[in-house]
Amino acid sequence: MTAIAVLGSTNMDLVAYVPKAPRLGETVTGTAFRAVPGGKGANQAVAAARCGGEVVMIGAVGADGFGVRLRSALAEAGVETAALRTVEGASGTAHITVDGEGANSIIVIPGANGLVTGLEAGDDSRIGAADYLLLQLELPLEAVLAGARAARAHGVRTVLTPAPVQPLPPELLDLTDLLVPNEHEAAALTGLTDPHAAARALLQDVPEVVVTLGAAGVLYAARDRRPLTVPAPRVRAVDTTAAGDTFVGALTVALGEGRPVPEALRWASAAAALSVQRSGAQDSMPTRAETEAFAL
Ligand code: ATP
Repeated sequence: MTAIAVLGSTNMDLVAYVPKAPRLGETVTGTAFRAVPGGKGANQAVAAARCGGEVVMIGAVGADGFGVRLRSALAEAGVETAALRTVEGASGTAHITVDGEGANSIIVIPGANGLVTGLEAGDDSRIGAADYLLLQLELPLEAVLAGARAARAHGVRTVLTPAPVQPLPPELLDLTDLLVPNEHEAAALTGLTDPHAAARALLQDVPEVVVTLGAAGVLYAARDRRPLTVPAPRVRAVDTTAAGDTFVGALTVALGEGRPVPEALRWASAAAALSVQRSGAQDSMPTRAETEAFAL
């Protein structure tokens, strides 16, 4: 079993469905509302656990009803939550408006996530006991750096999803073993819109890169081998929310099990393709059995 520590965000996604998004100063009537657990950290943790990883989540929720729900959603997926603190104040929330065309706009209020500024007692050994540490950029950068330093000190491999995209400090790049941007993030980080060129540029900073290309699949690049493109399975996508997080969680499980890179990429692509065929974020993530069957 792959042991995975996730240091990242938990948010309650508050989704308003509207025929047409309101303009500034305008009030519109929507058609539906859903409150669903999200946050890139929690999403990756759930994806990895569903795919058969042994996962611990490090982060924080607020002392509110959302915090209780966020914790139980992780626990129900089989994620260990002892290192998910409950802190004073509100849980992280993402206020999402989805219009009739499926386009969205999002306000994220970090809440409890913003109070995670470093590691707490026990986190260093939790990270040290893992095969991989999964990181994203929805926690304060000093916490991400502290986690990455702990991982390096223990020889634990780090996988960084650079979202929301922002300039990455050289130290964080030095501490990253595998960087997994989507094509927009790869372009923002490098100024290069061609994913192959962007991946090549990123290899100057990190040893391995996977650029996710949505329905077009993924591009893998490493310093010591030829780049590899894996097309995505052709499926009818109904909701791509958290497809990237599903891919990262599943990929890490597969790599930790010692699957060769091409097989691990195909396996994770199968998991992500399954997730886009169902609506929701964590709800849409496949089990290991579903992924195995679809990856055949
Ligand atoms: P999100 O922000 O929605 O979580 P992302 O922008 O981080 O996603 P994408 O590159 O859109 O990441 O998607 C991640 C992976 O999910 C893709 O590389 C692919 O494997 C899978 N995927 C996404 N969309 C589709 C699709 N329409 N059909 C099949 N697979 C898909």
